[in-house]
Amino acid sequence: MGVQRTWKNPIYTHFFKHTCQACGGFLKVIQVSKVVNSKSPEAKKFDFDYSSTEGGKMIGDVKFIWDEFLCPTCNIQTSIKEQQKIENEQKKMEREKERLSKQGKIN
Ligand SMILES: [Zn+2]
Repeated sequence: MGVQRTWKNPIYTHFFKHTCQACGGFLKVIQVSKVVNSKSPEAKKFDFDYSSTEGGKMIGDVKFIWDEFLCPTCNIQTSIKEQQKIENEQKKMEREKERLSKQGKIN
């Protein structure tokens, strides 16, 4: 069986602290894996391409391994993509708050 280790934003994931939306505690990085068959409907959500320069696609059952965040307190698992989205939203809200407070709308 082929194994595909995928790295989504390793620097973002491993070199910065990320906090839980629910409790504010620090998130742990955990390894998640799933076996996906190249012919199954969910295969289109996974990348079956070889990462080497040889090209081509893996066929049959492939074990995908990737990182996700886990809050040890709430036991909530969040994908890296989802966490990035949440943090971007937060930054946007903070900027908006700052803007409004500068205008004297809120204090
Ligand atoms: Zn939490």
